[in-house]
Amino acid sequence: MSRSSRRYKPLQVNHGGGPISGCDRIRMPRARVLIFCLIAVLMLAVILGICLSYETSGDHSNRLPAVDLAKDRLSHKPVKTSPSQLRRLAAQVDGTRLWETHLRPILIERLPGTQGSLAVRKHIASTLSSLSAGWTVDLHPFQAPTPRGPVTFTNLVATLDPSAPRRLLLCCHYDSKALPPDARAPEKVFLGATDSAVPCAMMLELASALDGLLGALKQQRPAVTLQLVFFDGEESFEEWTAADSLYGSRHLSEWMARTPHPPGSTHTTLLQAVDLLVLLDLLGAPDPLIANHFDNTARWFDRLIAAERRLHRQGLLTSHPAEQMYFKKDVYLGPVQDDHIPFLHKGVPILHVIATPFPAVWHTLDDTEDNLHRPTVENLTRVLAVFVAEYLGL
Ligand SMILES: [Zn+2]
Repeated sequence: MSRSSRRYKPLQVNHGGGPISGCDRIRMPRARVLIFCLIAVLMLAVILGICLSYETSGDHSNRLPAVDLAKDRLSHKPVKTSPSQLRRLAAQVDGTRLWETHLRPILIERLPGTQGSLAVRKHIASTLSSLSAGWTVDLHPFQAPTPRGPVTFTNLVATLDPSAPRRLLLCCHYDSKALPPDARAPEKVFLGATDSAVPCAMMLELASALDGLLGALKQQRPAVTLQLVFFDGEESFEEWTAADSLYGSRHLSEWMARTPHPPGSTHTTLLQAVDLLVLLDLLGAPDPLIANHFDNTARWFDRLIAAERRLHRQGLLTSHPAEQMYFKKDVYLGPVQDDHIPFLHKGVPILHVIATPFPAVWHTLDDTEDNLHRPTVENLTRVLAVFVAEYLGL
């Protein structure tokens, strides 16, 4: 539904037939007075109507009611890419850049509040700032109590067009888990290659591969823009509990829920501006099985299935012998606690792109670059590039 088609409440006209006090003082025959007053009321209604329709059709998005954001989200249609566009999108994903430029600097220990965390955050911010599309990069630092005392966490949020009414969110966590050292190899640290260095690198590669298209999209000022969220503090410090986990996503979801959007709005917040939150996690091991977790976003999961199938048929994926290997709708291995939970509980539609079962190296010191499967990472990035392009109409 376009903005101009929104309805407004028509002005109530008094048809009671009684004396209209404002007209009594004018000495005219009663019928003429009545006609005169009726015309005046009608003219007032027309003028008011024109004003209201101007307000709803113009760029007055701070008056956008929440119900219309939800309607626009539900009626949002992806644009299906042509075979030649599909080839172009696949070619724009650069596996070497993904690995050497984006992934390698993240493969360090990056516990919240440490130098490693700062280095990775700088890497993400400088990569996005160097792109031509013009990302707005915001840091959200905050302190929270943990079983190891107060820790400073920092979420990183990059937005293509902060003034756009609605957003497609791509999210991952960039912190690594504090694992006890291995007595046999005390120098080894947990690198969390699949958890979640690869998803972070995939998001940076998506922004790089789609840079020109995203820049062109931004110029058109569409209703939906792209937002990249890099959460800090997904991992628990000790045993996973509601209090000791998801530090960054809990903080950001609460901040978004109380932040008016557009600025000054009394009706809507940043949370209601989220069309869909796509969370990437535990990706990079060979042969991932990615299941659909939520019925209300099943039609978007279908787009991932279709993208994988179409890319395969055109020979645009490598080490990918079957049409549909990663995304499968007919399996479900149960719910997973992850950064989407605080948003899910606040009513945000979620697409959870996570390998279930988890990679064999999950939460071990073996979750390293050596155990990643490079073609899988590149293939998944191509599937997501098609998904994002179709969602945003690039
Ligand atoms: Zn983890």
